[in-house]
Amino acid sequence: MDQNAKQIWVDCLGEVKSNVSVNAFNRWFKPIKPIQFKESVLTIQVPNPFFYEYLEEHYVDILRTAISKVLGSKGRLKYQILMPDSRKNKRHEKDDTDFTPGTYAVDQIKNPFVVPGIRKKNVHHNLVSKYTFDNYIEGDCNKLARSAGINIASKPGRTSFNPLVVYGGVGLGKTHLIQAIGNEILKQNPDKEVLYVSSEKFTNQIIQSIKNRATEELVAFYQDLDVLIVDDIQFFAGRGKTKEIFFHIFNHLHNSGGQIILSSDKAPKDLDGLEDRLISRFKWGLTADLRSPEFETRMAILMHKLELHNLEIPMEGMEYICYNIQDNVRELEGVVISLMAQTTLNGKELTFPVIKRVVTKYITDGRKEITVEGIQEIVAEHYAMSIDKILSRSRTRDVVVARQLSMFLSKKMTNNSLKSIGKSFGKDHTTVIHAIKSIKNLLDTDNEFQSEIMALEKRIEMSLT
Ligand code: ADP
Ligand code: MG
Repeated sequence: MDQNAKQIWVDCLGEVKSNVSVNAFNRWFKPIKPIQFKESVLTIQVPNPFFYEYLEEHYVDILRTAISKVLGSKGRLKYQILMPDSRKNKRHEKDDTDFTPGTYAVDQIKNPFVVPGIRKKNVHHNLVSKYTFDNYIEGDCNKLARSAGINIASKPGRTSFNPLVVYGGVGLGKTHLIQAIGNEILKQNPDKEVLYVSSEKFTNQIIQSIKNRATEELVAFYQDLDVLIVDDIQFFAGRGKTKEIFFHIFNHLHNSGGQIILSSDKAPKDLDGLEDRLISRFKWGLTADLRSPEFETRMAILMHKLELHNLEIPMEGMEYICYNIQDNVRELEGVVISLMAQTTLNGKELTFPVIKRVVTKYITDGRKEITVEGIQEIVAEHYAMSIDKILSRSRTRDVVVARQLSMFLSKKMTNNSLKSIGKSFGKDHTTVIHAIKSIKNLLDTDNEFQSEIMALEKRIEMSLT
């Protein structure tokens, strides 16, 4: 190591130390290695691109001040980044990573993963703006969860509803509600860092970060949020590493007053495969269920959706719809869309007989069919791998498992023959038989795998609604 560089960096750290918290100092400055000092340029090495972006994002001013105090106005800083894919710790010397603080070109850096919300002033919160409280109709079915949400929005992290866990079946408004809370928090507290993430995306980020050996940074990133919203945590079941990392993040965020909002399709106590230690934490806050809306609420929701689409239909038509579509709000919306198609595409007037026909048709064949392709797609997403890879000849273990699992689920969930399933994978029926056997063997011996498959089946079924 360049002794000169080392001394300069020690001096810089002295400056930095008085300006950041001890935690931040240990986390973000200690791992930096001074490499070289040459012609007023100090080169420092950071562990990975994420680390570099984080420094630039949060500490650029502090670094700049420190450098100019120690080296004078001519002093410059150059980053050297250990690339995440260099398994053997081979250093990636990149000339083009020569950036003075604040003037870097991000696209020259291989980003280990896209972390939503990385930029504080330009937070990509992942929220969809149409999900608001204004258009979330209140009813007995959602009263508790809705009013807890409104309460949280004005004082995130400072109510007794932390965490807020919302649970309920498909299409009952979980995603809408938790997103509405996020949107309302930002409306009332524009400075808060809010992040909405699906459990799927979260899991994929963890897989990526493990590959790139950037797990610590990922955790640090999540722990710095003010509000973390995770949708559909039932999919964490059977994912050991994800659960463990989520548990850490949960604890830290909760301790530091961050608001946590979660949704699940089951009551926490019925969530097989989620750890008791995590579930017991949920008792610190509020767990509220969403139930199927009662008739009056269905009517109110339907009227609201019709209004949104500028549709007018007779009262008896509305009643007919709400008597026949009972379980879930998404289906009510589906009917509204079908009605819209009838008027705008077919030019039909929405009379009672027309409405009746639309509803009957919706009930009888509104459901799509599960296909082998659909299964491949969902399995690929689950393993953060491309469909091409599943269809390739690769014998890598994770690819083989993904392929065999897709075949297994295809047999179980579609009516296709072994032969036709094989064909969809470019293989013959004996390969499918072998795949089914292998998966069954795994299932017999591995409990985690069992719940993983259950979660996958659920997701495949959900993709139809
Ligand atoms: P889930 O996440 O529970 O599966 P969603 O939040 O996706 O359900 O809701 C399904 C659809 O129903 C969404 O388009 C949502 O806007 C709508 N919806 C659900 N509950 C309500 C409600 N109380 N008022 C208005 N729209 C609702
Ligand atoms: Mg949802």
